[in-house]
This record gives sequence, C-alpha cells and structure tokens, in this order.
Amino acid sequence: SAAIEVRRLTKRYGRTTAVDGLSFEVQPGRVTGFLGPNGAGKSTTMRAIVGLDRPTDGEVLVAGRRYEQLEQPLRHVGALLDVSVHTGRTVRAHLTGLARSNRIPDARVGEVLDLVGLTDVAGKRAKGLSLGMAQRLGVAAALLGDPQVLLLDEPVNGLDPEGILWIRALMKRLAAEGRTVFVSSHLMSEMALTADHLIVIGQGRLLADSSVTEFVSRN
Ligand code: ADP
Ligand code: ADP
Repeated sequence: SAAIEVRRLTKRYGRTTAVDGLSFEVQPGRVTGFLGPNGAGKSTTMRAIVGLDRPTDGEVLVAGRRYEQLEQPLRHVGALLDVSVHTGRTVRAHLTGLARSNRIPDARVGEVLDLVGLTDVAGKRAKGLSLGMAQRLGVAAALLGDPQVLLLDEPVNGLDPEGILWIRALMKRLAAEGRTVFVSSHLMSEMALTADHLIVIGQGRLLADSSVTEFVSRN
C-alpha cells in the first residue's frame, strides 16, 4: 500500500490558500518527484506530512497513520525541509541531541556522519557550515532513524555540482532499497533526471500524477 496518503488536504494562511483540496499517494520503491512553480504549495504539503503544519482541512497519512500518531516518528519518516542550522553546537552534538530525543542509539550518529561524508567536520560548529555541508547535515538528520520514508524539499537548490550528483545518487540508492523518496523541485529538468514518478501541482491543486515518461510524452 501507499507510504504517504494525502487526502483532500487544504491549508490556508489567512486569506492565502496554499494547498487546495489536494489528494495523491506516494508509493515505496521509487523516487516520486513533487513538481510545481515557486509558491505552488510544495513546502506546505511536506510540512503537513511531517506534522509541522496543522491542515485546515483533510489529512495526511504516513505508514498508515497521522504523523502525530507515529511512535518514534524519525524511525518512520525523515525530512530535509529547511537546511538552515541555528544551533551553536557541533555537528556531532547536534545529531546526538536529535538521536537522544528520539531514542535512537548514539552509535547511529557515527553511521550517518559517514554516510553523508561529514565525519571530518563532526567537531565543527554546525552553524558555520557551508550550504553544501549544511545540506548534508540535514540529510544526516533525516536519515538518523533509518526511515522507510524520506522527504526532501528542493535538496539540490544552491548546491555545487558534486553535491547535486551526490544527492541524486543517494535518492536512487534509497529507492532501490525499497524506501519511499518524495522530492520537490520547481525544475522539470531536475525531475527528469531523478524521478520515476511525478506529482505535479499548481496553486495548491493537482495537475498531474503519472510516470515521468508518460508526463514528458503528453506535454
Ligand atoms: P512552494 O514550496 O511550492 O514554493 P509554499 O508551500 O512555500 O510553496 O507556499 C505556498 C503559498 O503559501 C505561497 O503563496 C506562500 O506565500 C504561502 N505561505 C507558505 N507558508 C506560509 C506562512 N507560514 N504564512 C503565510 N503564507 C505562507
Ligand atoms: P535538538 O534539540 O538536538 O536540536 P530536537 O529534538 O529539538 O533536537 O529536534 C529539532 C531538529 O530536528 C531540527 O533540526 C529539525 O530540523 C529536526 N527534525 C524534526 N523533524 C524531523 C524529521 N522528521 N526528520 C529529520 N529531522 C527532523
């Protein structure tokens, strides 16, 4: 069954309707791209999936449950949403704090640092990292619970070429392991290179839900 189910999701901020009755499902074992122009409602939808935003209407299920109902949510779903780091702590201390508050063994911190290539800067202050390194730290946090579902909001934005290739390869590998990867972008060219399936939105509404090849041949 679907790893993520968005059901008639609506989110309003005052008079702005960011998401407008949006429904779709995201399946495991592939990379699903979430495509739409800036302001389409992608981040709002992703925040709703991880319970950071309360929907005005509708609901979102991850692994069959609402995010707030998940026990140890980071073990089910990891998210790279906003890469800015405000903590004055080191990279390692930041991840260790996150692990402890989620009952994840400390040993996992070393594993994810290795996985994202941050072992050498583990003792540096997280706040001082370059954008590319901060992006890797965000991915490390998202992978900390070894989750089956991964959300990445515009992960290649502002990255250098090496970082872009790294993120693309990582997403493919996670999907090949049978995990669910849901990644947003405002660039069709990026989605064509990484996604298997596409959810396309505009002004908070669903425009397309199809394989990338089907979408490209129809448009
Ligand atoms: P996207 O991620 O596709 O660029 P967003 O979900 O960030 O789109 O934004 C959708 C709409 O909701 C935009 O019009 C945006 O200005 C508005 N919006 C998003 N977050 C907020 C917020 N916290 N307060 C007010 N308006 C918001
Ligand atoms: P700490 O106090 O060590 O910073 P918190 O338990 O307060 O840790 O968690 C806050 C951090 O967790 C933020 O950096 C936030 O981006 C991250 N975070 C929250 N939810 C998720 C998630 N689902 N996946 C990955 N990181 C998350």
